[in-house]
Amino acid sequence: MSKRDYYEILSVTREVSDSELKKSYRKLAMKYHPDRNSDDTEKAEKKFKELNEAYEVLKDPQKRSAYDQFGHNAFNQSGGGFGGFSGASNGFDFSDMFSSIFEEFSGDQGSVQGRRRRQSSMKAQGEDLRFDLEIALEDAFNGTKPEIKYSTYMGCTDCSNSGIGPEGKILECVACQGAGVVRQQKGFFLMEQPCVSCQGCGQTIQNSCSSCSGQGRLRKQRSISVNIPVGVDDGMRIRLNGEGEAGLRGGSSGDLYIFIHVLPHEIFQREDKNLFIKAKIPMITAILGGTVDVPTIENKPVELVIPAGTQYGKSFCIDRKGISSIKGGKRGDLIVEMHIDIPQNILHEQKEILEKFEELEISRKSLDEDQDNKPPKGKSGSSKKGKRKKKSSLFNRSKKVWGAARTGIDWMNALIFRMHPIFNRINE
Ligand SMILES: [Zn+2]
Ligand SMILES: [Zn+2]
Repeated sequence: MSKRDYYEILSVTREVSDSELKKSYRKLAMKYHPDRNSDDTEKAEKKFKELNEAYEVLKDPQKRSAYDQFGHNAFNQSGGGFGGFSGASNGFDFSDMFSSIFEEFSGDQGSVQGRRRRQSSMKAQGEDLRFDLEIALEDAFNGTKPEIKYSTYMGCTDCSNSGIGPEGKILECVACQGAGVVRQQKGFFLMEQPCVSCQGCGQTIQNSCSSCSGQGRLRKQRSISVNIPVGVDDGMRIRLNGEGEAGLRGGSSGDLYIFIHVLPHEIFQREDKNLFIKAKIPMITAILGGTVDVPTIENKPVELVIPAGTQYGKSFCIDRKGISSIKGGKRGDLIVEMHIDIPQNILHEQKEILEKFEELEISRKSLDEDQDNKPPKGKSGSSKKGKRKKKSSLFNRSKKVWGAARTGIDWMNALIFRMHPIFNRINE
């Protein structure tokens, strides 16, 4: 088994500065410290030893230069030298090592500000993206999985997102000497500004990747399919982790937010889980009663029984023919609002019948009033239906008798609707 590269073990480039090396070592040492990896101590111990071995070499300028020239052979050939590390590691005391890491860490606090700032890397997180998705109401009802296309930054494969070309390397920024900030004396004040040459990261790339101009990412067209769950509503958004812009030079990706826009439907209106529809029924059906086929969102019409004497604007509720909630639970209802189709340009014969109808209507009302022991009020007298004792049984209590046989005037027994509390609040 070949030995891993020391720089690779420490997750640094060959040009790493002493302070960056120390920083990376500390970070990894804490990560792989056996005390912190109780679930797989053996593996962590191995990693930890490997890490320490690499650091012991690279932190020493002489050993590092030897390693740079000859690789692992530099120590194998010397016989003694660093090769002794593995032997000594048998009695290695992890807790000592760990505390020394913390000591080093706290001891570093006194260093100049510029050096600490230099720890910011050349990486940067990618931006979050917004995608506005328009869907039909049917899609909100059924759920859908559309393929969406968008322009975004994606990682550069030529440089594995690093931004560094084949012959390239990371150098300390010349303008700020790696501090990331530039100081300027202005009168009495010492002004500090982020370095323009390196955007404050303290490093620059020599010979950057030509494909991505050293960005480690490229703008491309991307397409992914998105799961739109059943019941989504207008204005909701779905977050897709890490599907936003790729980060700068290997930085983590942003997220993609899908903003849902449910398009207005031709016939249905939606309010939360409920659907509303306006049904235009013939005038005679409104007076005599009958049935109408009501379209539903799942494209299976439902028969609705219209009771005799149905008024304009009256609403009926068809249970569970609305939308399912995204949170689950009972499906919403379909509320049908009655609109009455008043015939226009009727035939002379129809007109005669209606005039006859009106005559009869007037005498019917006065008959009703006589029965109620009220003095007759003449032809234009208003009806007293508000005071009538006779109850309109149709609206008292609904019964759901699905699939009940209905013949002729027997339809009253097969009511499939019920009164809905929002009847009178439906706007025209
Ligand atoms: Zn590249
Ligand atoms: Zn700089």
